[in-house]
Amino acid sequence: MTIPATRDDASAPFFDGLTRGRLMLRSCIHCGHVSRPDTISCSSCHSDELTWIASSGQGAVVSTIVDPTGPMVLALVELSEGPWIASRILRAETARDAPAGTPVRLEVLDTGHGEPIPAFVRTQ
Ligand SMILES: [Zn+2]
Repeated sequence: MTIPATRDDASAPFFDGLTRGRLMLRSCIHCGHVSRPDTISCSSCHSDELTWIASSGQGAVVSTIVDPTGPMVLALVELSEGPWIASRILRAETARDAPAGTPVRLEVLDTGHGEPIPAFVRTQ
């Protein structure tokens, strides 16, 4: 069972991006460092002046586990812009389907309740 994703003022640009098929990230206005969407201050220079940028949606699997309650394949994905995010790998059944290094791309998942969520599919 997945908890429905809900938006608030802070997350609205993130969910609006997903609605348009884009994974939005945070970029530091001062140093350009790119961070996860839930970041509130830059991990490089500690500035809290961040702007939203769209990810390419490309990345690679860092590690994978299978959630037996789903069942679903969950992975830590390193985006091409640098941040790592925890997400689902769609159309995969076991952790061996998406070993570390597997190239993936964003696929927005409509769970049928709440906001859409980011997920990934293998590109090869
Ligand atoms: Zn910075």
